[in-house]
Amino acid sequence: MSFCCLPFCDGDADECCDGEDPEQCVLPLRISTAAPVRDWEPSRVTLIGDAIHAMSPVLAMGANTAMRDASELTRTLCEARSPHASLVEAVADYQAEMAAYAFPLVANSRETGRTRVGQA
Ligand SMILES: Cc1cc2nc3c(=O)[nH]c(=O)nc-3n(C[C@H](O)[C@H](O)[C@H](O)COP(=O)(O)OP(=O)(O)OC[C@H]3O[C@@H](n4cnc5c(N)ncnc54)[C@H](O)[C@@H]3O)c2cc1C
Repeated sequence: MSFCCLPFCDGDADECCDGEDPEQCVLPLRISTAAPVRDWEPSRVTLIGDAIHAMSPVLAMGANTAMRDASELTRTLCEARSPHASLVEAVADYQAEMAAYAFPLVANSRETGRTRVGQA
């Protein structure tokens, strides 16, 4: 049995399910969108990926952005190995950079989801 997600088949369940009963093959999908976090105090605990910037899948950027987070956090932590930088400063740098590229993608994916697939 095949499964499909209605947001990706332009609402035409019959075509999406390739002749199968839509009630049997459609996979309901709840789309969540994160609210931007402001004034985020850095500490030795931080977040990457969907835990901080869950976004609509319509732009296919969620996993890509999660991997970018991992890369950015790795870089800032490695730079903190110098005697002049602290771990918390490294986390602050990561959080500032991540917010600048991730939250616009969250807003863009939400707007695209609204206009293209009727996402709430
Ligand atoms: C239909 C759909 C299509 C998508 N297509 C794309 C795409 O084409 N390109 C793209 O870049 N992104 C896409 N995404 C988004 C992508 O799947 C997510 O952004 C990505 O998986 C986020 O990775 P993550 O590691 O942050 O979170 P997750 O992948 O959710 O990983 C979190 C993990 O933590 C585990 N976990 C949760 N709670 C606990 C706990 N208490 N203890 C232990 N483990 C726990 C979970 O089981 C899970 O394995 C799509 C998403 C959906 C829903």
